[in-house]
Amino acid sequence: MRHIAIIGSGPAGFYTAEAAQKQWGEAVRIDIFDMLPVPYGLIRTGVAPDHQSIKAVYRRYETTSLSGNVRFIGNVMVGRDISVAELQELYDAVVLATGAPHDKKVGLPGEELGNVFGSAAFVGWYNGHPDFAALGPDLSGKNAVVIGNGNVALDVARILAKTREEFAGSDIVAHALDALEGAKTEQITILGRRGPHQIAMTPKELGELGHLTRACPRVDPADLPEEGEDALLEPGQRKSVNLIRGFAAIPESHREDKSIDLEFDFFAAPKAILGANVTGGRATGVEVERTRLEGGRAVGTGETYIVPADIVVICIGYQTSPIDGVPFEESAGRFANLDGRILPGLYCVGWARRGPSGTIGTNKPDGFSIIGRIAEDIGAGGRKVGGEGFDALAQTRGLKVVGFSDWKKIEEAENARAREGSPREKFVRIVEMIEAAGKG
Ligand code: NAP
Repeated sequence: MRHIAIIGSGPAGFYTAEAAQKQWGEAVRIDIFDMLPVPYGLIRTGVAPDHQSIKAVYRRYETTSLSGNVRFIGNVMVGRDISVAELQELYDAVVLATGAPHDKKVGLPGEELGNVFGSAAFVGWYNGHPDFAALGPDLSGKNAVVIGNGNVALDVARILAKTREEFAGSDIVAHALDALEGAKTEQITILGRRGPHQIAMTPKELGELGHLTRACPRVDPADLPEEGEDALLEPGQRKSVNLIRGFAAIPESHREDKSIDLEFDFFAAPKAILGANVTGGRATGVEVERTRLEGGRAVGTGETYIVPADIVVICIGYQTSPIDGVPFEESAGRFANLDGRILPGLYCVGWARRGPSGTIGTNKPDGFSIIGRIAEDIGAGGRKVGGEGFDALAQTRGLKVVGFSDWKKIEEAENARAREGSPREKFVRIVEMIEAAGKG
């Protein structure tokens, strides 16, 4: 028998569990830990609430959870309730699938000003992550600035732009829906330090911006590269650039009935967030330097200007949370590893291994390859006590473990309190989740 502990119940964790089941069938026991009492990580609190078709992948993870040799161990934080070293004593392999839940710091002067948020916090707010549910962004100003040209920047811009009606069928949490409904946003500026050919936005997500009820995208045709140069792009990127070209061709008449201008400001590198002396610590603008490309890199031209900003959301990527005693690669924001191997018996997978890149599906081959390596390393296993040892320790420590059947009670309660048309109204406080699980 092999005993595997997976830390993190997002896509990387579940694909690893699935791979372990395929590899060993009944000859493996898998415990999937999560610090929250609810599973699915990024699927629940990262993927945009209006992208329910993407979120539906949780059903596949549920199938894995319901197999006899897999347990969900929620409400247990590794590093606080139990150490990695203790887990290593109990399990043949410990796999860190903790994702990249923290914002990469942009390092701009003024980043600490009021109403300036990293995307992890802002996305966590509208998705009901308990750590960010109380974020309370002030949406009463006209100008929003979103920094970054990736899919998260698109998510944030779209969520800021949508009307209440456009959230029908989504599971955006009530506090965010109400705040967004009362928002006074008129201008959303998406700052990209490079140009249209360098965007990290995928066509489906970009295309959605062209179909918003009250917002219309705007691109300065002068920012577009020569059309012939598109031939050098890979097909997906060419589609995205085509959409950007389409936005540049939208006639002014089309904007007349739109109340939000959604502007792509390319070749625009943020230099500082301004505001400290003006409004007692709140952001009022972003100082930007015009750039040009040199060998694909953004180089400042010395020309600066100010983009007004009442709220700033910085969407420049994420990093993994370090865990005591686990080697960490600061520069890349992930665990130090060689093909997923960190130390004997300790592995990482998904964003915790490679940094925040790729799609949810990228984690599937990642999970299968780490299980291949673990199989090479542990052979028939059999030296560790596994989950029974954890259960004993949890009891000694008085941990309130939330298992999968407990989560199903939380899920049922969330579904039951959903507003009409929405699949669920998430609990946003851990104590509410524990209560709904009947463990209060
Ligand atoms: P990302 O794709 O890495 O994009 C980060 C963006 O931030 C890039 O445009 C980058 O520009 C910019 N940036 C980085 N440092 C900067 C700085 N100092 N100043 C200005 N701009 C800076 O990251 P992400 O958007 O957070 O997405 C993370 C992952 O999740 C990606 O794989 C993404 O595709 C995925 N995701 C997918 C979906 C979906 O499929 N629906 C939704 C959300 C996220 P440079 O290119 O110039 O570095």
